[in-house]
Amino acid sequence: TYIIAEPCVDVLDKACVEECPVDCIYEGERMLYIQPDECVDCGACEPVCPVEAIFYEDDVPDEWEPYVAANVDFFDDL
Ligand code: SF4
Repeated sequence: TYIIAEPCVDVLDKACVEECPVDCIYEGERMLYIQPDECVDCGACEPVCPVEAIFYEDDVPDEWEPYVAANVDFFDDL
């Protein structure tokens, strides 16, 4: 799955939402989140993010590693 990290916070540009073929990017209070079970790993969202907040899960920078769990937890809490 792809992951949305800190650069999205308070930006929520949503260019990624337009690109996602399976509509698996959801809006939270301060950032967007990718539903990990619905993401088909197409990568379409990554290049359109104006703040480069989207990473493949294995490529998330160490400093933003907590966002991997945050994307999963967001949907657990719904
Ligand atoms: Fe949607 Fe593809 Fe991005 Fe997954 S990788 S969130 S399916 S656009």
